[in-house]
Amino acid sequence: MLITFLGTGTSVGVPMIGCECSTCASDDPRDKRLRTGLMIEHGGRRLIVDISADFRQQALRERIDRIDALLITHCHADHVFGLDDIRPLNFRHGPIPVYASENTWRELRKVFYYIFEAKHIGGGLPQIIPHIIKDSFEVCGMNLTSFSVIHGRTEVSGYRFSDGRSEVAFVTDCNLIPRESLEKLRGLDLLIIDALRHQPHPTHLHLDQSLAYIAELEPRRALLTHIGHDIKDAETNSFLPPNVELAYDGLKLEI
Ligand SMILES: [Zn+2]
Ligand SMILES: [Zn+2]
Ligand SMILES: [Zn+2]
Repeated sequence: MLITFLGTGTSVGVPMIGCECSTCASDDPRDKRLRTGLMIEHGGRRLIVDISADFRQQALRERIDRIDALLITHCHADHVFGLDDIRPLNFRHGPIPVYASENTWRELRKVFYYIFEAKHIGGGLPQIIPHIIKDSFEVCGMNLTSFSVIHGRTEVSGYRFSDGRSEVAFVTDCNLIPRESLEKLRGLDLLIIDALRHQPHPTHLHLDQSLAYIAELEPRRALLTHIGHDIKDAETNSFLPPNVELAYDGLKLEI
């Protein structure tokens, strides 16, 4: 699996509009974070997890000319508002299968009502093939396991990806991982996990909590994502445990 971090920022991105804090003013490229998204390439196929309003910019940067599947964690604006930007890929390659939980689909159908209304057919709509995720399913030649994590009052889908050689999991936007979901996160080569900031937050993990989950789950390596502006890359990386780092936009790793 080749993993690319399309974006690693929280919902407002870093720098945040109107902010002059030292992270937002930093000229370290690792302190510039587009909204969170991940690309996984496997066996010549390309899967995208979450499609933020920054997807267009991410796709141009990574020269994405085709995607084979799109996976959604939850229907918050910072994870889905790039959906219209799959249209250039549709023009060339046709509809794209999109995977989400039943709850997430209920919300996606409200937010993107125009995609699903017959009267709007034609005229440059995103072309998607909706799939409801199961506990385990196959996408792009990988076995996926889905599980729920708690994000304030919302449930978010976490995903585990296995290609028979490597085990990777993506757990964004949560303040709690229920016990039964933790059991699905053991024996990982790579855990990608939410770490919003240093201070506690009602709907996201803060750094100490993320590190506590990592210590409990013992993945071979962990990368932190969905990062806000109170975390400065160089400063924070300097005190993280040896198997943990902050992810940054454009980071690629072969797992
Ligand atoms: Zn988010
Ligand atoms: Zn700031
Ligand atoms: Zn969210």
